[in-house]
Amino acid sequence: MIQNLLDRALAQARPAVELGEPASYIPELGKVDKRQLGVCLYTLEGGRYSAGDTRVRFSIQSISKVISLAAALERRGFDTVFQQVGMEPSGDAFNSLVRLETSESHPSNPMINSGAIAVDSYLAPVISFEEMLAFTRALCLDREISLDERVYRSEMSNISRNRAIAYLLENKGVIQSDVEQTLDFYVKMCSLSVTAESLAGLGLVLASGGVDPNTGARLLKAETARVVKTIMLTCGMYNDSGQFAVRVGIPSKSGVGGGILSVVDRRMGIGIFGPALNQKGNSVAGEKLLEYLSAQLDLHIFAEQK
Ligand code: GLU
Repeated sequence: MIQNLLDRALAQARPAVELGEPASYIPELGKVDKRQLGVCLYTLEGGRYSAGDTRVRFSIQSISKVISLAAALERRGFDTVFQQVGMEPSGDAFNSLVRLETSESHPSNPMINSGAIAVDSYLAPVISFEEMLAFTRALCLDREISLDERVYRSEMSNISRNRAIAYLLENKGVIQSDVEQTLDFYVKMCSLSVTAESLAGLGLVLASGGVDPNTGARLLKAETARVVKTIMLTCGMYNDSGQFAVRVGIPSKSGVGGGILSVVDRRMGIGIFGPALNQKGNSVAGEKLLEYLSAQLDLHIFAEQK
């Protein structure tokens, strides 16, 4: 039944790929075929369902902010992470620095670039990129995740805006470690190559409170999983998070590589790949897919009792 539903969800969302474009401000991302679309759903009971392009590798981009936040909470603790990074939706674009300069002394939340760069500045001095890669592979239940060197180089050669954010954060005392090391760490995390399956794996681990339900191994503290899911619900879909929460109601995080990671608490993880993006930077067809699945399977966090 779930497989049929996924097939139908894919078919009804597919026309929407024509309504968006791949991100092109990182030149390497602009080369991706925008008509690709895939959805993968893993349930806590062990069900695994896929439809479409679920094994195609693509750039994780901002979804890595979830992994960095989880690592920082585990390694540095809640108080350190949230001392100078807020928990509020920003309402601005993901790469904005306007609020940072005009009204706030710290980033609004860890899901926008300024917040993620700050979080990475707490991690970079204490954990190597290789350790982060191993952590990412474990959380996504995917041993093949690796760094996409071309995306990494492409992003590093277009880094001015994030470099401006990082130095502004240093100027405000939010970043106290090496800025260039932090930027390199941030871009490497954004350049990891994943599939819709890897995102479903990560969603599954978060849905089960930080445990891999296949093995019973605890990969994250329950508190870490709770904090991450809450921030995803309020801030995960850029400055579209509010309307997405109303219409879909599933804690999610998108990335400009076209991925969406979704967590239906205690039930399932969903991974989506659809590189045609809307103006806000979210996968157009991916959002449609999730809206359909949410309605059909009653996945909204506040779904009416039937
Ligand atoms: N690496 C991207 C950037 O910093 C991430 C953007 C995103 O996926 O939202 O611009």
